Amino acid sequence: MTEPIVDAAPAIDFDLKNLPKVSLHDHLDGGLRPATIIELAEAVGHTLPSTDPVALGQWFRESADSGSLVRYLETFDHTVAVMQTAEGLFRVAKEFVEDLADDGVVYGEVRWAPEQHLQKGLSLDEAVEAVQEGLEAGVEAVGETGREIQVGQLITAMRHADRGQEIAELAVRHRNKGAVGFDIAGAEDGFLPSRFRDAFTYLAQHNFPATVHAGEAAGLESIQSALVDGRALRLGHGVRIAEDILVEFDDDEDTEDTIGLVTLGDLSSWVRDRGIALEICPSSNLQTGAIAGFGEGIESHPLDMLYQLGFNVTINTDNRLMSGVTLTDEFELLVETFDYDLDDLLELTLNAAEASFLPLEEKEALVEYINDAYANLG
Ligand SMILES: [Zn+2]
Repeated sequence: MTEPIVDAAPAIDFDLKNLPKVSLHDHLDGGLRPATIIELAEAVGHTLPSTDPVALGQWFRESADSGSLVRYLETFDHTVAVMQTAEGLFRVAKEFVEDLADDGVVYGEVRWAPEQHLQKGLSLDEAVEAVQEGLEAGVEAVGETGREIQVGQLITAMRHADRGQEIAELAVRHRNKGAVGFDIAGAEDGFLPSRFRDAFTYLAQHNFPATVHAGEAAGLESIQSALVDGRALRLGHGVRIAEDILVEFDDDEDTEDTIGLVTLGDLSSWVRDRGIALEICPSSNLQTGAIAGFGEGIESHPLDMLYQLGFNVTINTDNRLMSGVTLTDEFELLVETFDYDLDDLLELTLNAAEASFLPLEEKEALVEYINDAYANLG
């Protein structure tokens, strides 16, 4: 007879990797395989900090963790440099989808800024088409392994540049050819969404959805502008919405327990009560200092408070290469840090499915698929 193997203290007794996941906030230029960067760099004559895949992967993670924004941003110089040709974009997009599927992702929205990929002569439309072909090839490759994944592009404009209108038009032009939404990214502080007010109005007039990076490197003013000027249906990170929540502690006179009194401001009430999804990226938020105002370490991330208060919290990776994480890792981090169980992970996943930019019928099918998969676990 074989004795059952007893694990000393299993923190997690379920297979996180195979849980069906939804990824809403994941940058194409932040999710390359180190070996691919090396091959593509060689082909285009770009010099890298290392030509060893392991060392290069480590360099990316160390740069993201260095606390230096300059070093963090330098990492994107290298990924963007190898994504300037149709071949480069195709390969990166294809592998991106395969890596998402390996992580258990069944639906993913992939964001990237076409305007950053024109250095070798591609037009904006050609760049979007190359990525779309790569994404579709990735979906096909995943299908051949017996799994299923669905992906869409979030066409992103860089907020420090002045191409918002052009990129909004690009996104709408590709709405039935892979583009599912619009975003603005890059330096948040000092570059309010109101700079792109006309572009957002154009999108609204064309009934094209937008998510807006806000509440990461800047605070409530940026979130307010994302909602008002950007008509944001979701907030990229949005974590600093917690600055609009007052928590006071008091002793209960009868039980002598400490009780927390929570007061939401108008802005945080709006975000919670309207169900505006927060695309939270736990590890990235820690690395970039987005949550530094709430304390040190991942345990002071306000995502748990926001989740407990009923905000529409979704969990994402942001930049898998730079942060050295997968969505599975982020789930594991939440289980370890906040003691989340399967019910919590299901709720966070359903939040993401429902906040996706899919049409209603497809959204309902996705929700059903996730519910079924969780129901069949135990
Ligand atoms: Zn982001």
